[in-house]
Parts: sequence; structure tokens; C-alpha cells
Amino acid sequence: MSFDDLGLIDPLLRAVREEGYHTPTPIQRLAIPPALAGRDVLGIAQTGTGKTAAFALPILQGLVRGAPDGAPRPGRRPIRVLILTPTRELATQIGDAFAVYGRHLSVRHTVVFGGVGQGGQERALRAGVDVLVACPGRLLDLLSQGLVDLRSLGVFVLDEADRMLDMGFLPDVRRVVRVLPSARQTMFFSATMPPDIQQLADGLLRDPARVEATPVATAAETVGQALYFVEKGDKRMLLAHLLRDPSLARVLVFSRTKHGADRVVKDLAREGFSAQAIHGNKSQNNRERALDGFRGGSVRVLVATDIAARGIDVDGVTHVVNFDLPNVAETYVHRIGRTGRAGARGEALSFCDQEEREYLRDIERLLKRHVPRVESHPHRSPLAPPPPTVLGAQAHGRGPPRPVHHDNTRDTPRNGPRPPAASMPHPGGRSDRHRPAPRALSLNEAERRGQAMRNQKPGG
Ligand code: AMP
Repeated sequence: MSFDDLGLIDPLLRAVREEGYHTPTPIQRLAIPPALAGRDVLGIAQTGTGKTAAFALPILQGLVRGAPDGAPRPGRRPIRVLILTPTRELATQIGDAFAVYGRHLSVRHTVVFGGVGQGGQERALRAGVDVLVACPGRLLDLLSQGLVDLRSLGVFVLDEADRMLDMGFLPDVRRVVRVLPSARQTMFFSATMPPDIQQLADGLLRDPARVEATPVATAAETVGQALYFVEKGDKRMLLAHLLRDPSLARVLVFSRTKHGADRVVKDLAREGFSAQAIHGNKSQNNRERALDGFRGGSVRVLVATDIAARGIDVDGVTHVVNFDLPNVAETYVHRIGRTGRAGARGEALSFCDQEEREYLRDIERLLKRHVPRVESHPHRSPLAPPPPTVLGAQAHGRGPPRPVHHDNTRDTPRNGPRPPAASMPHPGGRSDRHRPAPRALSLNEAERRGQAMRNQKPGG
């Protein structure tokens, strides 16, 4: 099936083609036709599945219905679409998606979130927008000041509902919903459907089309994995060694701590690699600059903590490096899902020191498979366990530096075929996502508490 079969108008098809999309993703195939028909949609999908286009394309089409050439409607522009999303990063990405998919239409959108001055957002709202992308806290502030009028709303999207729950935003979401007109189309997206979320969905949706995508399982089939046993103190040298391979073009490095992330960046800079860190000690501006650089290609290596990285979506990450192994096994699956997106091939390279062996055990238990070991690399830990096969005997110890590091994984004979990528369990069902967190918890604080899987910088 191609985009042409979905019933989309030409300006949207052109935009999609210009983005280089050839085929709709499963969630797009399933959600776009009912959404175009005006039905409510319950989408069980997470970031990385193409869900943004799944709602943005039908919304854009709905907005120009009656003006198929995309001509601006004269007069006042009341808000006709509201998209609620939990984090600033997601809000920004959704805003960007509307700009991209709507580039041949004259639909106006704006994005509002907390933690920044209100002036610019106020001006954009006064000028009139068709689509408002908002984080709940700031939207409530603007509503209470009479700066947002949702009486003409026709479409409401609730994005990442389960994360709204995680971040303690459900009361805010309910408050927003109360002021929406009841005659509207609602699209509800959530990666998981715990009981609270199911209940919320039941209250918001009318006879929805239920569509489901299991992204991480799909993504991971295109992610190759490799494990490096290395002493803690040698990790930075190993990373620099690996980066000498130019095929590591856009590299997302995960560090368990903020200080660790800063140290990695400093060491890489000393070695002449362009690297930036992104975590809760950095200002919003600073984080955005780092992300822009990474997206644009001027920053080759982005070093992130798990919390800072959640919700960030960058295309074309060639390699994920687990500089530290996560202490929660599911986090590993999430991290490596940052590469190998949309059918592209990606590699996940993980460093494991002596103290991280138990994390590795947990990860492999979850994966139900052995992560292929790289036995011959110049910084191999002398304490590394012996290779699992007799072939490994010759690969013991420190081999000569090899610019290409992940072709010598030892699950298969040296010259044999690449081991197949692991098939990932869907992390969506993990229980730790459903624990509510206090609403005002900052990214910084969350990192300090080590709640890596549960919190992210609230969008305000
Ligand atoms: P999302 O889940 O909406 O955050 O999208 C994940 C990424 O996939 C985004 O970077 C999109 O640009 C990209 N994407 C969305 N739809 C497609 C498609 N049909 N083909 C290729 N890439 C896509």
C-alpha cells in the first residue's frame, strides 16, 4: 500500500514524498482512513511508529476541506485543533511535523509549553492559529487568562496519554477536556493501556477505530547489537577508538549520569570529535541547540541521560552507544530503539564493565538472548569472561586495533554470517511506567533521583 491509497489530497502527498516517505507505516495505514472519515481513533503506539503523521495528515486535510487548494480562510482564525502532549520536546516535534506536512497548505499552528516566557506564545495566539499544540500546564495558564478560546474546536488529540499519567498530568488533562466542545473528533494515543488510561479513553472516545502498532519490536529487527567488555576507566578510549570509524555518523551515547555525560563530551572534544551533552543541568536553550546541531549534522555525537533522551526523536541515528549499561533492563530496549528507525539499519554498541555484569544478565534475561560479544578490541577487559565458543580462545586478549569493531561479533564463526538481530520484547507492557510521579519534578531532580524510566522534563 502506498500513501496514494489512503485518500489524501495532493498537497499532502507531495509533502510526504518530499520527506522521502515511500510507504505508510502500519499505524498510518490503519489510522488515516478512519481519521479522514471523521471517526474517533484509539491509537496504541509510541514515538517512532510514525504516529504524528497518522494524526497530522488527516487533521491537515480536514482543515482545508472546502478549500482544497489550501487557500487561507478570510477573517478570524479560531483554534480548530488542539493537540495535548506531555513534554516540550514532543510538542516542538509535533509543531515541526505540522510545518513539514502542511508546507503546501496555509494552515497556521503554534506550540505552547511552560518554562519559557509567555509573550511569544501570546502573540502567536492573538494572530490566530488553526492548530494549537500544547503541554497541559501552560495551556491551563493561558486558558485562565482568557488567551485561548477553544469554543470552535473540532478535533482533539491526546498524545502519549500513558506518559501524561506517569508525569502526574491527568488532572490537568481532565481540566482541559472539560472546556472542549463535546461535538468533536478525538484521537487518543498511548503506548500502553493501563486501567487509568483505558478509563480515560472510554470517557473521551465515541466508537473509536482501535489501531495498534508495536514499534520497538519492529525497530529492533533492524538493530544489530554488540557488547564490549571493558574496564570502567578504558571506556572513553574505547569510544574514541570506535568513533574513528566514519560509519558511526550520527551517534547517540547514553550515560547513566549527568556528570558522566559531561565527562564523555569533554574527553571526546579533546580527541577532536564534535560532541554535545543533553541533560537536566542544561538550559532549555542549550538542549535545543545541541539537538539542532545533532539533527543538522554539525554535532556527530550526542551524549544523553535516559530522561533527557526520552521523547527526543532524531532521524538517521546510525549508532546507539551504551557507554553505561542501564540498571533497568527495559531501558536498554528503549535506548537501542533510537536507531534502526523506519526500516533503516542501526547498530547498538554496549560497554560493560565489571560492576555492570548484573545489568547485562538482566538485559539478556529480558531479551531472552545473548548480546553478541566483540572479543577482539583494543580495550578488552582482562577480567572479561571467556568467549562462549571454542573459537573464542584465539580471540582472547587484546587484538590489534580494528577500525571496524562490530563485524567481529562471536556468536558466529569469524567469517560466518552476521548474527541475526535480536527480536525485542515490546517494552510497552512494563509496569514501572504506570507509577505516577509528582507533577513538578524537574528533569534535573528526576535524574538525581535516578528515576530513569519514569520521568521526563514536564512540558508545563
Ligand atoms: P513519530 O512516531 O511520529 O515520532 O515518527 C517517527 C519518525 O518516522 C519521524 O522522524 C518521521 O519523520 C518518520 N516517519 C513517519 N512516517 C514515515 C514513513 N511513512 N516513512 C518513513 N519515515 C516516516
